[in-house]
Amino acid sequence: MTINKEWFIEKIQTFLAEDDANKMVGVDGSPIYRQDVLVGFASGDDPIFEEYKSEIIGSFHMTPREALENYCKKKKLDISPKNLSVVAYILPFNQETRKENLEYSKEWPSERWAHTRLYGERCNVALQQFLIDELEKEGIFALSPMMHTFMWKILRKHENGVWASRWSHRHMCFAAGLGSFGLSDGFMNEKGVAMRCGSLIVAYELPSDADKRPSDPYAYCIKCGKCIQRCPVRAITFEARHDKQKCSEMVMSTIPYIKEHYDIPIYSCGLCQVGVPCQDELPE
Ligand code: SF4
Ligand code: SF4
Repeated sequence: MTINKEWFIEKIQTFLAEDDANKMVGVDGSPIYRQDVLVGFASGDDPIFEEYKSEIIGSFHMTPREALENYCKKKKLDISPKNLSVVAYILPFNQETRKENLEYSKEWPSERWAHTRLYGERCNVALQQFLIDELEKEGIFALSPMMHTFMWKILRKHENGVWASRWSHRHMCFAAGLGSFGLSDGFMNEKGVAMRCGSLIVAYELPSDADKRPSDPYAYCIKCGKCIQRCPVRAITFEARHDKQKCSEMVMSTIPYIKEHYDIPIYSCGLCQVGVPCQDELPE
């Protein structure tokens, strides 16, 4: 069996089509994610992973090698770090969710958007486990650092600011040439910023897409400022870009609203990801 991009796309599409995890059961059972997913690869030894530690994110962010070592130490396994690759993917939100979050309110997330934040992320985690299991059937080890609490953690405060994690799916997508960041910190890509993404470390050499990666991490953002206008708390500015603390306070303040109106325990917002030129595509 050849393990390549088509293999990953086919596996992800099969999962999204067949698994109940991709159904918005609390609303109308429609799919949370569309089928037209994107997949990209990066070498596990790509120098960008050291740059994430030394300059871009912080020393707490793991390289793929460190994550594998950490996992092997804990699980008492011996897996070679030779030929490591990172697989990153984009799961686009369905159009009804995008439309509803734009039309519903200028202050609060819509029901579909909130369900996507909660159940869509559960689907994303289930998808990672599915891919790990499918790779294991082919004799290939794979690991998702965010699925293990001994490895993955969100840091409220860190050496370079606030709110960052020890493994960032969005940064894996950037490494794998799938797009760039925007002013709002959303991950801009061909399917639009209204998405969730995931990544795996795979002990198998896959052809790197690093040549598709722009040198500027904000390359595809046209600096139109529409996301600034969409944010109810002005957490985005041209000068300071995305104020993660202000954003997080707004996002956390949605918990009681979502509980009262949609009866699910989650926070959500995403108002800056709809009604903007990067919502569905890379803007011209
Ligand atoms: S709305 Fe405009 S400024 Fe904001 S991230 Fe998208 S392209 Fe960039
Ligand atoms: S997620 Fe909400 S609070 Fe955060 S920047 Fe976007 S619109 Fe503003």
